[in-house]
Amino acid sequence: MSKKNVAVIPGDGIGPEVIGATLEVLEKVAPGRFDFHEVAMGGNAIDKYGEPLPDFRLKTCQEADATLLGAVGGPKWDNQPPENRPERGLLRVRSGLEVFANIRPAKIFAPLASACPLRKDIAEKGIDFIIVRELTGGIYFGKHEAFKTPSGERAARDVMEYTEHEIRRIAHVAFKMAMGRRKLVTSIDKANILTVSRLWREVVEDVAKEYPEVKLNHLYVDNASMQLIRVPSEFDVIVTENTFGDILSDEASQIVGSIGMIPSASLGDNNRGLYEPIHGSAPDIAGQDKANPIGTILAGAMMLRYSFEMNKEADAIENAVDEVLKAGLRTGDIYTEGTKLITGSQMKAEIISRL
Ligand code: NAD
Repeated sequence: MSKKNVAVIPGDGIGPEVIGATLEVLEKVAPGRFDFHEVAMGGNAIDKYGEPLPDFRLKTCQEADATLLGAVGGPKWDNQPPENRPERGLLRVRSGLEVFANIRPAKIFAPLASACPLRKDIAEKGIDFIIVRELTGGIYFGKHEAFKTPSGERAARDVMEYTEHEIRRIAHVAFKMAMGRRKLVTSIDKANILTVSRLWREVVEDVAKEYPEVKLNHLYVDNASMQLIRVPSEFDVIVTENTFGDILSDEASQIVGSIGMIPSASLGDNNRGLYEPIHGSAPDIAGQDKANPIGTILAGAMMLRYSFEMNKEADAIENAVDEVLKAGLRTGDIYTEGTKLITGSQMKAEIISRL
């Protein structure tokens, strides 16, 4: 079997720590199957090249089968001009890879149920859903305009626009994902008010005909934000446009606990993708071996599943994480009384020993 080329962006702060742990896990679960190509991006690239992601480094990501990213940024680069900040590298790599679907799982690991802020009887029913967020369209990418009315009053507008093709391709991502899960898609919109949402609904219903095994339902976004905390166990795959997805995915991450635990994938055509934890570079704990590597390790598992179809290996990683948590081992961010506090590198070693 040919080796997979993976562009690896350690980034800044705790980025290199959590990425280092993830590469060791990947090498253990599938020895000799990857060629890793390190790419400087973010603050360290500003130090090295004067810019957060030079073209030739982006090219390494574009030529790879998938890209794995830690996190970028930190106080050292806070005074850079806006166009040269470390986070610019993030926008460049996302647009350069043409990823249009952001996938964020919201899963509660049973041993961490006590970290869930929802009522016990709600959390106990289990939470395991995925948000598929459209990433390159909608109001964030529409025309932005500040202007004056004829009477001289200040005004502003941002345009929300979607084409049928943009809706169709994200809907396919959601339905395909549902086929490998509990076969339920919830499409979230505001079709009672927005014309864009009515088109969204029509196109999603059209795509649904190609997946007769999958049950589709629709929710208005305001209702969805309530149902997510009322009956989270009833969701499987959620598909929604960019802005609604931005807000609902942050709500979902709070439901399932620590920021250090949650992975994310951004997918484009041809199975290529960008995989990263949802947290930032955590400068407050960088270099202290306190960072929880689980979010990035689970992002590695998503890469195996979605870009390389290595489902068995992805399952093995997710099970090993579950086992470590069941054994009561915790980094500081998920520590509670009665569990055992360990360092980031011990967490990595414990996961590897269970693979
Ligand atoms: P952050 O996610 O870095 O940290 C928020 C809090 O969570 C901190 O207290 C941190 O110690 C803790 N935390 C985060 N990840 C953790 C982990 N794996 N284990 C244990 N604790 C963890 O967010 P922030 O402090 O707002 O931002 C810090 C820097 O990261 C900024 O420069 C910001 O721009 C950047 N940032 C980058 C990304 C990215 O690269 N995708 C995302 C968000 C923020």
